[in-house]
Amino acid sequence: MKPAPTVEFSKQIDVRHEVDVFVAGGGPAGVTAAVAAARLGKSVFLVEAQGAFGGMGTLGLVPVFMTFGDGVRTLAAGLGAEIRERLAAAGGTGPSPNGILPEVLKRVYDEMIEEAGVVFRFYTNLIGTIQTEGRVRMAVLAAKSGIYAVRARVFVDGTGDGDLAVMAGASFEKGDPDGNLMPGTLCSQWKGIDWERYAQWRRRHPGSQGSELQRAFENDVFTQKDLHLPGIFRLGADLGGGNIGHLYGIDNTDEATVTRAMVFGRKLVLEYEKYYKDYLRGFEQMTLTQTGALPGIRETRRIMGDYVLTLEDFRDRAVFPDEIGRYCYPVDIHPSRPDPTAYAKFEREFTKDLRYAPGESYGVPYRTLTPRDLENVLVAGRCISCDRYVQGSIRVMPGCFITGQAAGTAAALAVDAGSARTRDVDVATLRNTLREAGAYIPGQ
Ligand SMILES: Cc1cc2nc3c(=O)[nH]c(=O)nc-3n(C[C@H](O)[C@H](O)[C@H](O)COP(=O)(O)OP(=O)(O)OC[C@H]3O[C@@H](n4cnc5c(N)ncnc54)[C@H](O)[C@@H]3O)c2cc1C
Repeated sequence: MKPAPTVEFSKQIDVRHEVDVFVAGGGPAGVTAAVAAARLGKSVFLVEAQGAFGGMGTLGLVPVFMTFGDGVRTLAAGLGAEIRERLAAAGGTGPSPNGILPEVLKRVYDEMIEEAGVVFRFYTNLIGTIQTEGRVRMAVLAAKSGIYAVRARVFVDGTGDGDLAVMAGASFEKGDPDGNLMPGTLCSQWKGIDWERYAQWRRRHPGSQGSELQRAFENDVFTQKDLHLPGIFRLGADLGGGNIGHLYGIDNTDEATVTRAMVFGRKLVLEYEKYYKDYLRGFEQMTLTQTGALPGIRETRRIMGDYVLTLEDFRDRAVFPDEIGRYCYPVDIHPSRPDPTAYAKFEREFTKDLRYAPGESYGVPYRTLTPRDLENVLVAGRCISCDRYVQGSIRVMPGCFITGQAAGTAAALAVDAGSARTRDVDVATLRNTLREAGAYIPGQ
């Protein structure tokens, strides 16, 4: 493709705030990072591009939290457990302990951020960084009021896509060796579902979902013959959260693909509506109440850090001297194409080969949060330093709570160290501070 013509754009901008810790992105990772740093007494400035916190779990309508524990212990203890408890206390989980009513979760995050004293702005995009030799000095932000800068000592990237780290010069990997990414999903919310009728029908026809899907393929209900259907999750008396249909070819770092996928996704849910109404029982009267304001994004960049957590570590149930937590969710890599062979491989890995027995977990070293070549930047959430397999596990929200809390705590300790260098953080102190805040940190 012919390179686009270029134009120089320069502008003198205000430095409006000066803080200890700057956090970009208010998803599960960014929120926990900001709260952790603020609870340790640091001044924190958090920006979120949308109008609420929670990322995929609220604006993306992802309907449930994946596992917080390994079947024996709570691994996403500390802030993760607190969020789930506060959500339950506010009536925000629905009938399942891990369900998410997004409007309630948005308020829980608002309250935690406000109580911690974090200064925050919605509808504000991180658009650049100003740095000298690996040390970021300022974040450049764009909002309705204009473009401005925030000076900070330590920067945490909770954008899911590693935007801040990449703007500051970090190296990254994206997708498989051919650049294929997991598909996204435009999640949806439905009312008018008769869950009892569905449960009775399922009891009478176990395993019918697969054959019904085949029947719908034969009848050309779908534009994509996609065997991979996570489903609609019960969220209330007649309410359901849909994780249905895949957006193939979406790359959240390329808004042209996102634009196409959002338009397609809103059509795709209508195909699933027909399927649920005509082929299953209990969904006949269901009505679509909303689709996500954000597309559900499973995979983009993985920032390369001082350590890259790999499949081998996952298989070894690895233990690290600098681990900031442990996690256990199976490797869940949705195939990049609606291809039956790729789906069979996924099923084998997800249900058997790359799934742990109760009590098993892998360690997450602090070094997966420290991007190479950057002095005062930490990454948290979906974009930490790992291979594609581990990303397929750690990317779920409880995993993001673990790395978010650790990144925020490390940011605060880096400020305390005087240098604000992430590598000057004493790992034993980091692990103890996390432990004191309720995180699960085994060993000495
Ligand atoms: C369809 C789907 C189903 C899933 N199912 C589950 C599930 O059942 N259970 C589970 O636990 N997990 C699930 N996940 C995974 C999980 O939801 C995400 O991986 C997780 O939310 C990632 O958290 P994060 O904080 O890293 O990023 P995100 O949740 O993506 O949050 C990032 C936030 O940063 C903001 N942001 C991004 N760039 C900028 C910028 N430049 N400036 C300012 N703000 C910015 C975004 O608006 C967003 O709010 C699912 C994901 C998808 C897509």
